[in-house]
Amino acid sequence: MSTTHPREQNCEISTCSGGVVTHALAAIAPAEANLTLSAAELHRRLGHMSIDAAKSLIRKGAIVGIDLKTLTEVMELCRACVQAKITRIPFPKERSRPRATTYGKLISSDLFGPAQVKSIAGSQYTMTLLDDATYEIMISFLRAKSEAFGKYQTYEKFIQVHRGVTVIKNFRSDRGGEYTGMEFEDHLAKQGTHHEKTVHDSSSQNGAAERFFCTSVMHTLAMLLALGLPKFLWTNAMQHAVWLWNRTRGKITGDRTPFERIFGDKPDLSNLHE
Ligand SMILES: [Zn+2]
Repeated sequence: MSTTHPREQNCEISTCSGGVVTHALAAIAPAEANLTLSAAELHRRLGHMSIDAAKSLIRKGAIVGIDLKTLTEVMELCRACVQAKITRIPFPKERSRPRATTYGKLISSDLFGPAQVKSIAGSQYTMTLLDDATYEIMISFLRAKSEAFGKYQTYEKFIQVHRGVTVIKNFRSDRGGEYTGMEFEDHLAKQGTHHEKTVHDSSSQNGAAERFFCTSVMHTLAMLLALGLPKFLWTNAMQHAVWLWNRTRGKITGDRTPFERIFGDKPDLSNLHE
C-alpha cells in the first residue's frame, strides 16, 4: 500500500526549461492543482459513493486534492447506480463494545461466495479482513474455501511487516468450516491469538465486514456497468472499491479515514481516476 503522494513527486516546473527564472517561479508556484470535478464526476471517481457523503468528506477536509466545481450542484440520476440497485446501507450507530485502540487488537474476517461469475483468474470467493482500530479493510480472492488459511497467514505476515503488529490478539469469524479447521485453530493457538466465533450469519456481531461487502458488491457492479466492462473483472473493481474504502470512509471513523489513522496524513486523491 503506497503512502507516496503524487503531488510530492511533482517537479514539472523546475525541469521544463532550466535557468534561474524558471527555478524562481518553481519556488513560488503553487503545488500541483487539485482535481476540479462536477458532482457526477466526483460520484463516479469515488466508486459511486453517495454524493452527500462525498461532499461531506471534502467539506470536512477528510480527503485532499479534490475541489468541487460547486458544492451546491445537484447530481442527476446515475444510471449505473440504478442498474446496480445501489441502496445506501447505514452503519450501526451503536457499538456493542468500545473500538480497539491498536492495529491488530481485533481483526474480523468473513468469507463470501461463490460469486455468480468467476473472475479472470478463476476466483469465486472473497475473504475480508478488517482491523477494528482503523477500519482498514484488506481482501483476498479464493478459488476454493480451502485457501482461507493460506490467505490468513499471508495477511498476518503483511500486517506484521507493514502495520507494526506483533501478534493478532483477537480474531473474529463465524463458525464456518474454513475458519475452524484443525490447522487454522492450531496456528491461532500457537500465535497466541484468541479466536472469537460469532453465530453464523449474525450481522450484528460481525457487522462491519458484512456491510462493507454488501456495499462494495453494489459499487463494484456500478463501476463495471458505468464503463461497460465485463463482470469477470469484478475482482479488479472490488480491489479498487477497497482502495477507495480505506481512503474515504471518514464518516464511520469520525472525520478520519482509515488511511489517516494508519499513516497520520490525509489521503490525497488529486490523481484519482474513474
Ligand atoms: Zn453511480
